[in-house]
This record gives sequence, structure tokens and C-alpha cells, in this order.
Amino acid sequence: MTVSLFAVLASGFALAAYTAAVLPVRVGRGWRSPGVVRRSVVVACLLMTGLNAGVAAAPDDLATSPAILAGDLVVLCGGVVALRSARLVAHPTCLPRRIVAVSAHPDDLELGCGGAIAKFVDSGHEVHSVVMSGGRNGGGLARQDEAAAGGDFLGVTSLVVLDLPDSCLPDHGPAMIRAIEDALDRYNPDLVLTHSAHDRHQDHEAVHQATVRAARGHPSILSFESPSASDEFTPQVFVDIDQYVDTKVEAVGRHDSQGSKPYMRPEHVRALAVVRGRQGRVRHAEGFEAVRVLDSRIGP
Ligand SMILES: [Zn+2]
Repeated sequence: MTVSLFAVLASGFALAAYTAAVLPVRVGRGWRSPGVVRRSVVVACLLMTGLNAGVAAAPDDLATSPAILAGDLVVLCGGVVALRSARLVAHPTCLPRRIVAVSAHPDDLELGCGGAIAKFVDSGHEVHSVVMSGGRNGGGLARQDEAAAGGDFLGVTSLVVLDLPDSCLPDHGPAMIRAIEDALDRYNPDLVLTHSAHDRHQDHEAVHQATVRAARGHPSILSFESPSASDEFTPQVFVDIDQYVDTKVEAVGRHDSQGSKPYMRPEHVRALAVVRGRQGRVRHAEGFEAVRVLDSRIGP
């Protein structure tokens, strides 16, 4: 009877380890590093599989069984805690993609596509962010830290913040093109995200132009919406962020130095998501203009 119990437990932990290793799992954003949590769960389950299988194969050696059972209990409790903050978001037909997101200022990605970035990350995709300016002229040195906090919260794979002067980016086209080309060479992305051409902010417009030039040979570029977008901004692609509106609001809130601006308020972020959601026929969405899109690179 005891042997059967340990054999069943070994099988159960082996199945749990396989599930945690293979299926994309969204770990709650309160966790510091979802990847570490995930690997820890897999390692713990594999360890308990081996121990339970060892006891099951040696029924005479029951002296160790209480210790193994205690270990089982600890790992099971840990699994329950993880399940309370984790949710399966499996996309079994969607291969992992790489995305490079390029913006002018530290808060642009959170405002323009923070929901989509969080959704991509949780679906198992890599997101590499390139921010052209630390935004010193528009909020001081704190904005560098805010960029890191926002990117960290969304779970981006990497974040580079260049030290180009904000409000003067149109004067730095060649430097921006070089930086974007470097990122494209390094990450070979399936999708590039950047500002729209229909944006009144000179920095945003300059980053759009630099990205389009640097990615001139790239098949898939989408432009996100900024608060300074002009009336000509016309999204044709929508990302359903119904599960990610709160995440987006919280990511935007990481930019304390910009908190007094009306478009940083949660109600503004939510209202725009409702408007774009209405256009996209879902509850909440982010809208993107397609510079060009190749379906085989983007996937579902
Ligand atoms: Zn900006």
C-alpha cells in the first residue's frame, strides 16, 4: 500500500514538472522573477519524483518515508501558493516570437503598448525594449529608474535606455538608426513596435522615421498610439488587453515623475482601452497602425 502511494506521488510530481516546463504559465506580477519561480517548481517536482520513485522501488526501507512525505507536503503547499498567483495562458499553436519595441521616452511603451507587451511576455514571447532618451529634460534623472521599473513590471526580456536628449531627437537620426539596427541584428525580431507617423511630438515622429529606416528590410512593423497622436492615427490592428488593463495602469503608474499629466491617470488609460476595444470588437484593446505585417512572422 505504501509502495503504491509513493509510486502515485512520483507519477504526479513527474506530470507536474512536465506541465510546468512545457506549458506557458503566467506567474503573478508580484513575483520578482517568473522564470526563477518556474524553474524552481520544475526542479522541486523532479526532485520529489526521484525521491518518491526511490522509496517506491525499495519498500523495505521505510525509515525515510516520513521525511519524503513531509517533503511532498511542502512541495504540494508551494504548488498551491503558486497556483493562487499563476494562470495557464497556453497558446499551443503559437511559437515563441521575438519582439523589439522602440520608443522615444521612458513612459512611451507603457502608455502605447504596455498591455500588449505584458500579454506577449505572459504568452512566452521575448520583448526587447529600446528607449532613445532617459527623459532628463522632461522629469530629471528619476526617469531612468522609472523606465527600469516599468519594464521590469511588464517583464521585458531586456531594456536599453540611450542617453540622447529628449525634445531634440530629430537632431539625432543617425545615432537612433544605428541603435535600432544593432537591436535588430542582435535579436532578429519577428515583430518591431514603434511610434506612429501620425504623432505631433517631434521626438515620437523622429523615432518612427528612424525605426522605419533601420527596419527597411523587416517584414513586420506596427505603430502604437501615444497621447500626442494626431487625429490621423488610424489603427487597423487590435490587441485584446481585457486581461491586462490593470497591468497597463500599474505599469504607467511606475512613472511617478509624470503623474501630474492627465493622460497618465488610470481613468484615461482605461477610457482609451475601451475606445480601441469598441473598434476592435472586444472590451479593452490597444490599437496599432500597420506599417506592414507578414502573417507568418507574427503568428496567432
Ligand atoms: Zn514620449
